[in-house]
Amino acid sequence: MAVTARNFVGSYFEKERLITVQYPEERIPLPENYRNFPFLPYDGDDSHAGLRCVACKICEKECPPQCIYIVKSEDKKPDYMGKPQFYPKVFDIDISVCMSCQICVEVCPFEAIKMDKVFELSSRERFDALLLRKSDLAKSNEYYHSICPTDAAGVDAKLAGAVAAAAKKKAAAAAAMTPSAGSTSAPGGAPSAASA
Ligand code: SF4
Ligand code: SF4
Repeated sequence: MAVTARNFVGSYFEKERLITVQYPEERIPLPENYRNFPFLPYDGDDSHAGLRCVACKICEKECPPQCIYIVKSEDKKPDYMGKPQFYPKVFDIDISVCMSCQICVEVCPFEAIKMDKVFELSSRERFDALLLRKSDLAKSNEYYHSICPTDAAGVDAKLAGAVAAAAKKKAAAAAAMTPSAGSTSAPGGAPSAASA
């Protein structure tokens, strides 16, 4: 009672004691670790070309209430390392079933699914309106940075490290295939005329 009285009287004099927020005109910034439903981050400007998801379906298998539905493509497109990969032709999440557990995020090996913070998703229509399609789920990496700057920076660094490691490995493999300057062996290992 004393606390209530102190806050009530204090709210006339100190703004920080005025805990009522005039939502939706006023909004309290959401903490970085707040989560709601998943989304699919993509790199660059093109939500198809930049989509990180390779339709491996691990998240679909691991989702406890089985609210993810994926159909893998028949063709492939380059992933963030330029490697041809399948992509989801269909990627749906039924948010009327999703329990925001984040298991899909934890199991994804490609940093391709993250938790969103959008919570104003109520609808009078209880079926199709709560089924988020790939076009609803795909959101840019810039958006991810705007809602989770620390995590997004960590993911960017991890992916950039993977790209650099792959480039280094490729360069080392190419160097191993190139004959050294002093070598005079003919292709196939046969000694060349010069070495005879
Ligand atoms: S947050 Fe949990 S329930 Fe929702 S889609 Fe991911 S794994 Fe499924
Ligand atoms: S979001 Fe991740 S785990 Fe799910 S299908 Fe795509 S790449 Fe696989």
